[in-house]
Amino acid sequence: MLHYTEFCLSPYEVPGEQSICIYISGCIHKCPNCHYPELQLPDNGELLYKYFSDILALYLKQASCICFLGEGMELPQEKNEFALYTEYAHNKGLKSCLYSGRDTVIEQWMHMFDYIKLGSYHEEFGTLDSVITNQRMYRKNNNNGYDDVTYLFWDR
Ligand code: SF4
Repeated sequence: MLHYTEFCLSPYEVPGEQSICIYISGCIHKCPNCHYPELQLPDNGELLYKYFSDILALYLKQASCICFLGEGMELPQEKNEFALYTEYAHNKGLKSCLYSGRDTVIEQWMHMFDYIKLGSYHEEFGTLDSVITNQRMYRKNNNNGYDDVTYLFWDR
């Protein structure tokens, strides 16, 4: 089951949104110079299902989006858990975002999210705010496709 280490309200992770950011532990990647090694520990932190509704209630008036930073161990049951959380958030009027650390195309199960960040971390290319980053941020469009909006991080 998904665990989280911390949460916060932030305008930086998703362009144009005030996001409730939840840091998901259990990351199975081993990026050199990982910027958050605690996320690599399995089951680190609290069980998300116990506190998810309380976290949303805390920031609901200020937030426009829920942002999951990490995919956990990428297990099928964790994807089901994300589906429950995104549905809950959407019903509360929030958009949703997933930060994946993988080099992949947008997968079918990810279509539940309004924003998807893809791409592994390479120190030499930097994160989304670097103009040479290998990472990408996608935003769902009116046709249920996704547009690359990574450039929105570069004008800040
Ligand atoms: S994906 Fe993120 S948390 Fe996971 S090892 Fe890479 S930098 Fe660290």
